Amino acid sequence: MGHPFHIHGSDSRAPEAGVELPEGRLDFDERPILVFWESTRACMPAPILIVTGGDAMMRPDVFELVGYARERGIPVGLSPSVTPLLTLENARRMRELGVKAASISLDGAQTRTHESIRGVSGHFPKTLEALRMMVSLGYTLQVNTTVMRDNVEELADLACLLKEIGVKIWEVFFLIQVGRGSEVRELTPEEHEEVCHFLYDVSRHGITVRTVEAPFFRRVCTWRLADGPGEDPIAKYGLSRLYGRLRRRLEEKMGAGGADPLIRSARTRDGKGIVFVGYNGDIYPAGFLPVALGNIRRDGLVETYRNSELLKQIRSSAFTGRCGNCEYADLCGGSRARAYARFGDPLGEDPACAYQPRNANPQTASI
Ligand code: SF4
Repeated sequence: MGHPFHIHGSDSRAPEAGVELPEGRLDFDERPILVFWESTRACMPAPILIVTGGDAMMRPDVFELVGYARERGIPVGLSPSVTPLLTLENARRMRELGVKAASISLDGAQTRTHESIRGVSGHFPKTLEALRMMVSLGYTLQVNTTVMRDNVEELADLACLLKEIGVKIWEVFFLIQVGRGSEVRELTPEEHEEVCHFLYDVSRHGITVRTVEAPFFRRVCTWRLADGPGEDPIAKYGLSRLYGRLRRRLEEKMGAGGADPLIRSARTRDGKGIVFVGYNGDIYPAGFLPVALGNIRRDGLVETYRNSELLKQIRSSAFTGRCGNCEYADLCGGSRARAYARFGDPLGEDPACAYQPRNANPQTASI
């Protein structure tokens, strides 16, 4: 712990460095002349505050909260629900407060698919309307989609719809199923692999693609980036019909897609560059990994992030199973949340990944 009156920074000189003091008028036994209050020992770039919910717009003081953050120079993103509260007036007011980015969920290219997944009738046209409204107000718009058996065949049409609306970023979430018998909507590891190859193709059409809980997308991108022009991924990677169908549909609607892939990534992963704080102050490695590491009030966020044994293991890629033997462990790391959901071990292998590491020892694999 540092001295309470010591400051770290470029302008932290104490009076003995040459500042002249008015002698005789001060009693340093009584009081100091300068108090440097160390507000934090952490040194981090300003984070982005994402206002989310539930329905964030239901909070009566949401504009006040956003305004307060903006006054302090904190970048704010909005993740609104498509409800009657997402009006032109409210969206414009947020924009005037300086909110530049927004994300909205869309889970299908057809009314039936989106509304059966969301369970709200009439929600599809309202979502498209909301997306168009946000684009017209100048938001940098992201669409979030959960990929599953119900909508996987519509992904090419969905990509085309996003492009037509002017969506800049597509964030695709890969399901995490908990418990046996719930796999009906989940894709197989081979299908996940095919979807990742397809998403790489989409990223060459001017849409930035990111995945959530599918870090093996980075492995696929690494492979595809290294491929020469004209190399056929179907033959090279043994892909099959799902990828073939999606690619054909994408090409029918959007052409071959020759742009540079938009797959920028900060190379973060659960617990490495990412930490999640729950509503009650509990700290987790990621939003979908329910292993509490401590509480901000009791343990401190910075201390927990730096010193948690689990986070240290995650950051040093101390995994088991295939992820433990994988040459892509640091780049990818597997979904820690899915490993925990399936095996009860946050350091276990990610069962949704189809890759067999070159140096895998079959006896250590945990499938
Ligand atoms: S085996 Fe694990 S670390 Fe390797 S690519 Fe698959 S999920 Fe990633």
